[in-house]
Amino acid sequence: MTDRVAIVGAGLAGCLLATLLARRGIEVTVYERRDDPRDAGPERGRSINLAISARGLQALDQVGLRELSLSRALPMHGRMVHAQAGGQSFRPYSADGAHAINSISRTELNMALLEDSERTRGVCLRFAHRLRELDMTTGELWFETPAGPRRAAADIVLACDGAHSAARRAVTFRMGFTFSQDYLEHGYKELAIPPRNGQFALDPDALHIWPRGGSMMIALPNLDRSLTCTLFWTGEEFAALRTPAEIVARFREAYPDVADLIPDLAGDYLHNPVGSLATIRCWPWVHHGEGCTLALVGDAAHAIVPFFGQGANCAFEDCVEIDRCLDETAGDWTAALAAYQQHRKANCDAIADMALDNFTEMRDRVNSPVFRASTAARHFLERRLPGRYVSRYELVSFTTMPYAQIPARMRRQDRATALAAAGLTGAAGLLAAAVRAGARPGTGRRGVLRRDAGRPGMGRRGAARGAGQ
Ligand SMILES: Cc1cc2nc3c(=O)[nH]c(=O)nc-3n(C[C@H](O)[C@H](O)[C@H](O)COP(=O)(O)OP(=O)(O)OC[C@H]3O[C@@H](n4cnc5c(N)ncnc54)[C@H](O)[C@@H]3O)c2cc1C
Repeated sequence: MTDRVAIVGAGLAGCLLATLLARRGIEVTVYERRDDPRDAGPERGRSINLAISARGLQALDQVGLRELSLSRALPMHGRMVHAQAGGQSFRPYSADGAHAINSISRTELNMALLEDSERTRGVCLRFAHRLRELDMTTGELWFETPAGPRRAAADIVLACDGAHSAARRAVTFRMGFTFSQDYLEHGYKELAIPPRNGQFALDPDALHIWPRGGSMMIALPNLDRSLTCTLFWTGEEFAALRTPAEIVARFREAYPDVADLIPDLAGDYLHNPVGSLATIRCWPWVHHGEGCTLALVGDAAHAIVPFFGQGANCAFEDCVEIDRCLDETAGDWTAALAAYQQHRKANCDAIADMALDNFTEMRDRVNSPVFRASTAARHFLERRLPGRYVSRYELVSFTTMPYAQIPARMRRQDRATALAAAGLTGAAGLLAAAVRAGARPGTGRRGVLRRDAGRPGMGRRGAARGAGQ
């Protein structure tokens, strides 16, 4: 008898996973709480765009959606850092200035994935089905639908229903299940910068950041030439602004170059919701009951904060890994899901930590001259030692190296760099001693360093704006 497979959640992971499974000949029913988004449209003020990078693109490639997605995305080659006193500086993401992350509408990406899964034989989509309860002992799923409660049954349940997963609740109180959710004191609120005279009001080739120490704002471009701003503020900061006058005054003070770009700033601010940001960790991700097996996938297993732009990229990797494990185990679900969770857990923990660390970098460290100097030094090393010295940002965003390997790789690189720096300092000391003793200093090493430092070798954007480094 073939297994009945149910996916809960037709978000980014649920749709991709449905297509991958159906392509293997596995029939799958996907239950989504929302109405069909093709009829309903996006939710106001909820993460309108996402940055998709190498990992996400590789996963989309598996279902033939890479090119379509890129054609609907805007590349961002670096960060544009906006100072409070005015002025902006561009910092390329990669040493050669050529690599970009891609700003794409979450709704469009979800729809492309949805349509792809609908076209794939073996996928059945059920909208307006909100999971209320999963009974692990019987394999029964109970849904709330406009027509009243509906029951379904499955042998394999794949929970792709996001950070607040209803399916996960079925195992929350099981013996041996560990679960933690760490909310940031910061939440997020989205605001829109419309086009100005038909053009982007800010450079569309960058992810804009307004770092303000304890908090920040970012903006990503959209295809319709608007930009979506996201404020990352503490709950106290949000609560402190009650009147239009207070809101406008705060923006004029903290984001003076943006205050006039949002026509109904106070209205949008007061209307749009504040979302919460949490890191969710749990284990195990796979549970066997008498009636069914449950596996947690994407945000349901490991929601992370958005500061590395990796949540969706990482969720896509989960789906590809399940598909790969089914391949390796010749379709044995028990073995495949066991391998899936083993392979993915450490990687997801690693990106969760890096995402938290990147928040401090984005809202604070990017402002510091020391940080800018060290980024410039790293990019210099990347150009001097291509493939051997690669920055953390590049490893995360522009490669598919398992996340868990990245911290160790950074430590190795940094140790080698420190040793080299110590060696250079020692050599410089000897050189200085030689100069003092009257010897000719020679031009070799210093000459090379100086010449290369003045020739950044960056791509289009880096060459034009490398001075911002
Ligand atoms: C502000 C912000 C910015 C972000 N930026 C980026 C970025 O730049 N790059 C990036 O890679 N990631 C980003 N992310 C993270 C990314 O959005 C998530 O990691 C990703 O959407 C996870 O995909 P998922 O399919 O696991 O969950 P979701 O996308 O949350 O999908 C879950 C689906 O399940 C459905 N569902 C929920 N409950 C039920 C239920 N009871 N019954 C049935 N269906 C249900 C939901 O309606 C939804 O369709 C960002 C997140 C936030 C909050």
